[in-house]
Amino acid sequence: MVAHLGWSRRFQVIVHMGKLDGVRNNGGSSNLPWLTNIFNMSIEKSFEGAFKRMRDRNWEKIYVLVDIHDTILKACYNDEETHQWFPYAKEALDIMSHAQQISLILWTSTYDDIIADYLKHFKENGITFDMVNINHETKNTDLSCFDKKTYFNVGIDDKFGFDVETDWEILYNYLVEGIRLGKFK
Ligand SMILES: [Mg+2]
Repeated sequence: MVAHLGWSRRFQVIVHMGKLDGVRNNGGSSNLPWLTNIFNMSIEKSFEGAFKRMRDRNWEKIYVLVDIHDTILKACYNDEETHQWFPYAKEALDIMSHAQQISLILWTSTYDDIIADYLKHFKENGITFDMVNINHETKNTDLSCFDKKTYFNVGIDDKFGFDVETDWEILYNYLVEGIRLGKFK
């Protein structure tokens, strides 16, 4: 399973597999806690922090910004769109799209007519984005102006350090477990 990967990625996947094994065997604590703390924890930490803030501040939900190209789908650049999803992207987005306490914002530099095609494709796969590139639901405050910076709580973008080959599966498992434990709904 990991033979085709480089050494550092192979190590990451092995660590992640060890962690999943730990979840299955003893209800959450990892077999390799010091290793899982070093690798592959950032997307879980981002969501944990956002949900904690939501609870602390009595917000109804969090906003999750999601890029398309080289994040949800493999970028085709000038070629025809082939809709190649990264592993577990569809599953994780499906959960987030239906979660009451998550609002999905599509984050893309694509032109509007092409965005419509993407939204249609996502919808055909059961995934609905609430907004595109902007968050209409946040108001400026004394300290914060969102006129030029879209407000969000978690960003999923290859350029934000999201590793599309491994982080979608980590996120999917986190979401399934979070809903099961009642951390969010
Ligand atoms: Mg991208």
